[in-house]
Amino acid sequence: MANITRMQLLRGDLKGDKRPFRPPWAIPENYFVDYCTRCDKCVDACFDELIVKGRGGYPQMDFSKGGCDFCEDCLTVCESNALKKISLNKTAHQKNTTNQTNSRTNDVEEASEEDELDLYDHLSSDLEQYLPPWHIKVAIDLKKCLSMNAIICRSCGESCDDEVIKFNLQLGGVAEPILDVEQCTGCGACFSVCPVQVIQLKLIEL
Ligand code: SF4
Ligand code: SF4
Ligand code: SF4
Repeated sequence: MANITRMQLLRGDLKGDKRPFRPPWAIPENYFVDYCTRCDKCVDACFDELIVKGRGGYPQMDFSKGGCDFCEDCLTVCESNALKKISLNKTAHQKNTTNQTNSRTNDVEEASEEDELDLYDHLSSDLEQYLPPWHIKVAIDLKKCLSMNAIICRSCGESCDDEVIKFNLQLGGVAEPILDVEQCTGCGACFSVCPVQVIQLKLIEL
């Protein structure tokens, strides 16, 4: 059996399939519950009230109110590094991981500064890139989708600023929603607008 984390035990989630959606740029769950001080600053910072206090007092996303526009307000107010942009630079990422395992906040801060310097050694600043804010993707249950049942509905497509959901017209008034999973940012904007709640958000395990 895979290792069971403290939070899984608290959630009664021994299989690990009830992991909440943390705010964007949350560090990996095992570290997150260590670093997050449950200060609620991210909860208060989100203008759209998408972050709520979840089990154990830890913040989690509530996509029932809308989608995240990645404004970074929650990231900016998090002083504990529980929400943190991680550089895609390989060296930097490896150093961060090592430092997170061995030490706490101050060490991570120092490592970040070093990492940034390393980054500029190898790349020009306009190439600086970070890990995505999360690994959430959308899945649509086509059997229950209104559009697949010849009822006019484009709600999910219309809510997606990135135009990730397109509709493929077929015979009989059916229009199949086609999702470009690669391009989906997991922002969640399509989740609450589906009149029959057939859109699911899922954490992708890497
Ligand atoms: S990035 Fe902005 S919209 Fe998204 S959860 Fe954070 S504060 Fe809210
Ligand atoms: S701001 Fe950071 S430390 Fe505070 S509750 Fe949010 S994630 Fe946790
Ligand atoms: S399909 Fe993906 S990118 Fe488009 S609204 Fe839904 S979650 Fe956001």
